[in-house]
Amino acid sequence: MSEEEKEEYIRTYGKENELGEWVRPVPKEGEEYTYQWKPSWANDPNKPLLKITKSSLGAFKWCKKQYEFSYIDRRPVEVSEPMIKGTFIHDSVEDFYNDVDIEKAENMSMLELKDYFTGLFPISDYTEMSDSIVLFEMQRFKEFKDKKTLDEYLPVGNELLLNARMLINENLNSNYPLTQSYVVHLQGVIDRIFKEGENYIPMELKTGLWKDNKTGIRRELAFYKILMENAPDCGLVPVNHWGWYYPASNHLTVEKAKKATLTATMKAIAELIYAYENDDFPTSFFHKKCVHCSFIDICPASVNSTKEESDWL
Ligand code: SF4
Repeated sequence: MSEEEKEEYIRTYGKENELGEWVRPVPKEGEEYTYQWKPSWANDPNKPLLKITKSSLGAFKWCKKQYEFSYIDRRPVEVSEPMIKGTFIHDSVEDFYNDVDIEKAENMSMLELKDYFTGLFPISDYTEMSDSIVLFEMQRFKEFKDKKTLDEYLPVGNELLLNARMLINENLNSNYPLTQSYVVHLQGVIDRIFKEGENYIPMELKTGLWKDNKTGIRRELAFYKILMENAPDCGLVPVNHWGWYYPASNHLTVEKAKKATLTATMKAIAELIYAYENDDFPTSFFHKKCVHCSFIDICPASVNSTKEESDWL
Protein backbone atom coordinates (compact mmCIF):
# COMPACT_ATOMS: atom_id res chain seq x y z
CA MET A 1 0.00 0.00 0.00
CA SER A 2 1.26 3.48 -0.77
CA GLU A 3 1.47 6.13 2.00
CA GLU A 4 -1.49 7.91 0.39
CA GLU A 5 -3.57 4.72 0.48
CA LYS A 6 -2.55 4.10 4.10
CA GLU A 7 -3.63 7.62 5.05
CA GLU A 8 -6.99 7.12 3.37
CA TYR A 9 -7.37 3.91 5.34
CA ILE A 10 -6.79 5.51 8.76
CA ARG A 11 -9.77 5.91 11.03
CA THR A 12 -11.55 9.12 11.91
CA TYR A 13 -12.94 8.73 15.41
CA GLY A 14 -16.11 10.06 16.99
CA LYS A 15 -15.88 12.02 20.24
CA GLU A 16 -17.73 12.79 23.47
CA ASN A 17 -19.49 16.17 23.74
CA GLU A 18 -19.79 18.38 26.87
CA LEU A 19 -22.87 16.40 27.96
CA GLY A 20 -20.92 13.16 27.85
CA GLU A 21 -22.83 11.93 24.80
CA TRP A 22 -21.00 10.15 22.00
CA VAL A 23 -21.00 12.05 18.70
CA ARG A 24 -20.40 9.98 15.58
CA PRO A 25 -18.20 11.39 12.85
CA VAL A 26 -20.06 12.52 9.73
CA PRO A 27 -18.94 11.75 6.16
CA LYS A 28 -16.71 14.46 4.71
CA GLU A 29 -17.79 16.46 1.66
CA GLY A 30 -17.34 14.38 -1.47
CA GLU A 31 -16.63 11.12 0.43
CA GLU A 32 -17.62 8.18 -1.79
CA TYR A 33 -18.30 5.61 0.91
CA THR A 34 -18.79 5.51 4.66
CA TYR A 35 -19.82 3.40 7.62
CA GLN A 36 -22.02 6.30 8.82
CA TRP A 37 -24.38 5.48 6.00
CA LYS A 38 -28.13 6.02 5.74
CA PRO A 39 -30.39 3.84 3.58
CA SER A 40 -32.37 6.98 2.61
CA TRP A 41 -29.29 8.08 0.61
CA ALA A 42 -29.55 5.10 -1.73
CA ASN A 43 -31.04 6.99 -4.66
CA ASP A 44 -28.99 10.19 -4.26
CA PRO A 45 -25.80 10.01 -6.39
CA ASN A 46 -24.21 12.81 -4.30
CA LYS A 47 -24.33 10.78 -1.10
CA PRO A 48 -21.78 8.17 -0.06
CA LEU A 49 -22.34 4.42 -0.37
CA LEU A 50 -22.12 1.95 2.49
CA LYS A 51 -18.51 0.87 2.93
CA ILE A 52 -17.92 -2.82 3.66
CA THR A 53 -14.57 -4.42 4.40
CA LYS A 54 -13.59 -7.94 5.36
CA SER A 55 -13.06 -6.75 8.95
CA SER A 56 -16.27 -4.71 9.21
CA LEU A 57 -18.35 -7.63 7.91
CA GLY A 58 -16.51 -10.00 10.26
CA ALA A 59 -17.18 -7.67 13.21
CA PHE A 60 -20.86 -7.47 12.26
CA LYS A 61 -21.18 -11.27 12.20
CA TRP A 62 -19.30 -11.50 15.51
CA CYS A 63 -21.56 -9.01 17.32
CA LYS A 64 -23.84 -6.41 15.76
CA LYS A 65 -23.56 -4.10 18.74
CA GLN A 66 -19.76 -4.27 18.61
CA TYR A 67 -19.98 -3.32 14.92
CA GLU A 68 -22.10 -0.29 15.81
CA PHE A 69 -19.69 0.82 18.57
CA SER A 70 -16.61 0.30 16.46
CA TYR A 71 -17.59 1.19 12.90
CA ILE A 72 -20.60 3.53 13.09
CA ASP A 73 -19.84 5.30 16.37
CA ARG A 74 -16.10 5.06 15.64
CA ARG A 75 -15.17 4.57 19.29
CA PRO A 76 -11.48 3.83 19.75
CA VAL A 77 -10.51 0.25 20.59
CA GLU A 78 -7.74 -0.70 22.99
CA VAL A 79 -4.56 -1.52 21.11
CA SER A 80 -3.51 -4.97 22.28
CA GLU A 81 -0.15 -6.73 22.04
CA PRO A 82 -1.48 -9.20 19.40
CA MET A 83 -2.58 -6.20 17.28
CA ILE A 84 0.88 -4.60 17.50
CA LYS A 85 2.52 -7.92 16.66
CA GLY A 86 0.11 -8.53 13.76
CA THR A 87 0.83 -5.12 12.21
CA PHE A 88 4.59 -5.54 12.63
CA ILE A 89 4.66 -9.01 11.05
CA HIS A 90 2.37 -7.96 8.18
CA ASP A 91 4.63 -4.96 7.41
CA SER A 92 7.75 -7.16 7.62
CA VAL A 93 6.36 -9.78 5.22
CA GLU A 94 5.20 -7.06 2.81
CA ASP A 95 8.75 -5.60 2.84
CA PHE A 96 10.27 -9.06 2.42
CA TYR A 97 8.37 -9.68 -0.81
CA ASN A 98 9.15 -6.17 -2.07
CA ASP A 99 12.88 -6.50 -1.35
CA VAL A 100 13.77 -10.13 -2.08
CA ASP A 101 15.93 -10.52 -5.20
CA ILE A 102 15.15 -13.84 -6.91
CA GLU A 103 18.17 -13.73 -9.22
CA LYS A 104 20.48 -13.11 -6.29
CA ALA A 105 18.90 -15.94 -4.26
CA GLU A 106 18.73 -18.50 -7.08
CA ASN A 107 22.28 -19.81 -6.82
CA MET A 108 22.63 -19.63 -3.04
CA SER A 109 23.15 -22.68 -0.82
CA MET A 110 20.42 -23.29 1.79
CA LEU A 111 22.70 -21.80 4.45
CA GLU A 112 23.29 -18.65 2.39
CA LEU A 113 19.57 -18.45 1.60
CA LYS A 114 18.78 -18.60 5.32
CA ASP A 115 21.17 -15.73 6.05
CA TYR A 116 19.84 -13.71 3.12
CA PHE A 117 16.14 -14.17 3.98
CA THR A 118 16.77 -13.60 7.70
CA GLY A 119 18.55 -10.33 6.87
CA LEU A 120 15.45 -9.12 5.03
CA PHE A 121 13.44 -9.20 8.26
CA PRO A 122 13.99 -6.44 10.84
CA ILE A 123 15.39 -7.31 14.28
CA SER A 124 12.45 -7.31 16.68
CA ASP A 125 10.79 -8.96 19.69
CA TYR A 126 9.08 -11.31 17.26
CA THR A 127 12.14 -13.22 16.05
CA GLU A 128 10.47 -16.59 16.72
CA MET A 129 7.74 -15.80 14.21
CA SER A 130 10.02 -14.22 11.62
CA ASP A 131 12.33 -17.27 11.91
CA SER A 132 9.35 -19.58 11.14
CA ILE A 133 8.47 -17.42 8.14
CA VAL A 134 12.09 -17.55 6.92
CA LEU A 135 12.09 -21.39 7.11
CA PHE A 136 8.73 -21.54 5.36
CA GLU A 137 9.93 -19.20 2.59
CA MET A 138 13.18 -21.15 2.16
CA GLN A 139 11.15 -24.33 1.66
CA ARG A 140 8.84 -22.60 -0.82
CA PHE A 141 11.77 -21.10 -2.68
CA LYS A 142 13.44 -24.52 -2.98
CA GLU A 143 10.21 -26.14 -4.24
CA PHE A 144 9.72 -23.45 -6.90
CA LYS A 145 13.38 -23.66 -7.90
CA ASP A 146 13.22 -27.48 -8.20
CA LYS A 147 10.02 -27.22 -10.30
CA LYS A 148 11.67 -24.46 -12.37
CA THR A 149 8.74 -22.11 -11.61
CA LEU A 150 10.65 -19.40 -9.74
CA ASP A 151 8.79 -16.82 -11.84
CA GLU A 152 5.71 -17.73 -9.75
CA TYR A 153 7.47 -17.50 -6.37
CA LEU A 154 6.71 -13.82 -5.83
CA PRO A 155 3.10 -12.73 -5.30
CA VAL A 156 1.40 -10.75 -8.06
CA GLY A 157 -0.36 -8.79 -5.33
CA ASN A 158 1.37 -7.75 -2.09
CA GLU A 159 -0.87 -5.95 0.44
CA LEU A 160 -2.99 -5.00 -2.53
CA LEU A 161 -5.73 -2.41 -1.92
CA LEU A 162 -8.85 -3.07 -3.99
CA ASN A 163 -12.14 -1.23 -4.30
CA ALA A 164 -15.33 -2.47 -5.94
CA ARG A 165 -18.98 -1.54 -6.23
CA MET A 166 -21.66 -4.15 -6.12
CA LEU A 167 -25.43 -4.29 -6.46
CA ILE A 168 -27.13 -6.14 -3.60
CA ASN A 169 -30.53 -7.39 -4.63
CA GLU A 170 -33.41 -6.75 -2.23
CA ASN A 171 -34.27 -10.49 -2.16
CA LEU A 172 -30.74 -11.82 -1.74
CA ASN A 173 -31.35 -13.03 1.82
CA SER A 174 -34.90 -14.26 2.49
CA ASN A 175 -34.35 -13.98 6.27
CA TYR A 176 -33.44 -10.30 5.88
CA PRO A 177 -35.52 -8.92 2.97
CA LEU A 178 -34.59 -5.36 2.02
CA THR A 179 -36.97 -2.58 1.05
CA GLN A 180 -35.00 -2.03 -2.17
CA SER A 181 -31.77 -3.05 -3.93
CA TYR A 182 -28.61 -1.13 -2.96
CA VAL A 183 -25.18 -0.47 -4.45
CA VAL A 184 -22.46 -0.95 -1.80
CA HIS A 185 -18.73 -0.21 -1.81
CA LEU A 186 -16.40 -3.10 -1.00
CA GLN A 187 -12.82 -2.39 0.04
CA GLY A 188 -9.98 -4.62 1.19
CA VAL A 189 -6.24 -5.00 1.42
CA ILE A 190 -5.33 -8.54 0.36
CA ASP A 191 -2.20 -9.82 2.09
CA ARG A 192 -0.89 -11.72 -0.90
CA ILE A 193 -2.18 -12.94 -4.27
CA PHE A 194 -0.22 -15.72 -5.98
CA LYS A 195 -0.51 -16.84 -9.58
CA GLU A 196 -0.46 -20.55 -10.26
CA GLY A 197 -0.82 -21.41 -13.93
CA GLU A 198 -3.81 -19.38 -15.11
CA ASN A 199 -5.31 -19.10 -11.61
CA TYR A 200 -4.99 -16.50 -8.88
CA ILE A 201 -4.96 -17.46 -5.20
CA PRO A 202 -5.57 -14.91 -2.41
CA MET A 203 -3.60 -15.85 0.72
CA GLU A 204 -4.28 -14.60 4.23
CA LEU A 205 -1.47 -14.35 6.81
CA LYS A 206 -2.56 -14.85 10.42
CA THR A 207 -0.24 -14.13 13.30
CA GLY A 208 -2.26 -15.90 16.02
CA LEU A 209 -2.46 -19.64 16.64
CA TRP A 210 -4.40 -21.87 14.25
CA LYS A 211 -7.67 -22.77 16.03
CA ASP A 212 -9.32 -24.81 13.28
CA ASN A 213 -11.94 -22.10 12.76
CA LYS A 214 -12.37 -22.69 9.05
CA THR A 215 -15.75 -20.92 8.85
CA GLY A 216 -14.37 -17.54 9.92
CA ILE A 217 -11.31 -17.55 7.70
CA ARG A 218 -13.21 -18.94 4.70
CA ARG A 219 -15.61 -16.01 4.98
CA GLU A 220 -12.69 -13.58 4.89
CA LEU A 221 -11.30 -15.23 1.78
CA ALA A 222 -14.73 -15.39 0.16
CA PHE A 223 -14.91 -11.62 0.66
CA TYR A 224 -11.55 -11.27 -1.14
CA LYS A 225 -12.69 -13.48 -4.02
CA ILE A 226 -15.83 -11.36 -4.44
CA LEU A 227 -13.69 -8.20 -4.25
CA MET A 228 -11.15 -9.44 -6.83
CA GLU A 229 -13.92 -10.47 -9.21
CA ASN A 230 -15.70 -7.13 -8.94
CA ALA A 231 -12.83 -4.63 -8.70
CA PRO A 232 -12.51 -2.88 -12.06
CA ASP A 233 -9.00 -3.10 -13.55
CA CYS A 234 -7.95 -5.77 -11.00
CA GLY A 235 -7.63 -8.40 -13.72
CA LEU A 236 -6.47 -11.08 -11.26
CA VAL A 237 -9.10 -13.68 -12.17
CA PRO A 238 -10.18 -16.47 -12.13
CA VAL A 239 -10.05 -17.13 -8.40
CA ASN A 240 -10.85 -20.81 -7.94
CA HIS A 241 -8.74 -21.42 -4.82
CA TRP A 242 -7.83 -19.55 -1.65
CA GLY A 243 -5.49 -20.17 1.26
CA TRP A 244 -4.23 -19.16 4.68
CA TYR A 245 -0.94 -19.37 6.55
CA TYR A 246 -0.37 -19.38 10.34
CA PRO A 247 3.41 -19.16 10.96
CA ALA A 248 3.03 -19.61 14.75
CA SER A 249 1.47 -23.05 14.15
CA ASN A 250 3.32 -23.76 10.90
CA HIS A 251 -0.11 -24.29 9.36
CA LEU A 252 -0.80 -23.74 5.67
CA THR A 253 -3.99 -24.55 3.79
CA VAL A 254 -4.82 -23.99 0.13
CA GLU A 255 -8.23 -25.25 -0.90
CA LYS A 256 -10.89 -24.90 -3.57
CA ALA A 257 -13.14 -21.87 -3.06
CA LYS A 258 -16.37 -22.99 -1.35
CA LYS A 259 -19.63 -22.02 -3.02
CA ALA A 260 -21.54 -22.27 0.28
CA THR A 261 -19.16 -19.76 1.92
CA LEU A 262 -19.55 -17.34 -0.98
CA THR A 263 -23.34 -17.54 -0.67
CA ALA A 264 -23.14 -17.04 3.12
CA THR A 265 -20.88 -14.00 2.64
CA MET A 266 -23.26 -12.38 0.16
CA LYS A 267 -26.16 -13.08 2.55
CA ALA A 268 -24.19 -11.47 5.39
CA ILE A 269 -23.89 -8.28 3.30
CA ALA A 270 -27.68 -8.21 2.88
CA GLU A 271 -28.08 -8.79 6.63
CA LEU A 272 -25.78 -5.83 7.31
CA ILE A 273 -27.87 -3.54 5.10
CA TYR A 274 -31.00 -4.83 6.84
CA ALA A 275 -29.53 -3.75 10.20
CA TYR A 276 -28.97 -0.23 8.81
CA GLU A 277 -32.49 -0.15 7.37
CA ASN A 278 -33.93 -1.00 10.77
CA ASP A 279 -31.27 0.87 12.76
CA ASP A 280 -31.03 -2.26 14.85
CA PHE A 281 -27.65 -3.56 16.00
CA PRO A 282 -28.51 -5.90 18.88
CA THR A 283 -26.09 -7.30 21.47
CA SER A 284 -25.14 -10.96 21.56
CA PHE A 285 -23.71 -11.43 25.02
CA PHE A 286 -21.63 -14.47 25.71
CA HIS A 287 -19.18 -14.16 28.59
CA LYS A 288 -16.22 -15.93 26.95
CA LYS A 289 -16.56 -13.72 23.88
CA CYS A 290 -17.43 -10.45 25.62
CA VAL A 291 -14.57 -10.57 28.08
CA HIS A 292 -12.23 -9.60 25.20
CA CYS A 293 -14.50 -6.80 23.92
CA SER A 294 -13.18 -3.21 24.16
CA PHE A 295 -16.75 -2.00 24.77
CA ILE A 296 -17.71 -4.30 27.64
CA ASP A 297 -17.96 -1.38 30.09
CA ILE A 298 -20.54 0.49 28.00
CA CYS A 299 -22.40 -2.43 26.41
CA PRO A 300 -26.01 -2.65 27.69
CA ALA A 301 -25.94 -6.47 27.60
CA SER A 302 -22.84 -6.54 29.75
CA VAL A 303 -24.27 -4.02 32.22
CA ASN A 304 -27.51 -6.07 32.48
CA SER A 305 -25.66 -9.34 32.83
CA THR A 306 -23.53 -7.93 35.68
CA LYS A 307 -26.71 -6.68 37.33
CA GLU A 308 -28.41 -10.08 36.96
CA GLU A 309 -25.35 -11.77 38.42
CA SER A 310 -25.32 -9.44 41.44
CA ASP A 311 -29.14 -9.86 41.91
CA TRP A 312 -28.59 -13.62 41.97
CA LEU A 313 -25.80 -13.33 44.55
S1 SF4 B 1 -19.71 -6.80 25.27
FE1 SF4 B 1 -20.37 -8.57 24.04
S2 SF4 B 1 -22.48 -8.10 23.44
FE2 SF4 B 1 -21.52 -6.21 24.10
S3 SF4 B 1 -20.70 -5.24 22.26
FE3 SF4 B 1 -19.07 -6.43 23.14
S4 SF4 B 1 -19.17 -8.43 22.13
FE4 SF4 B 1 -21.12 -7.40 21.80
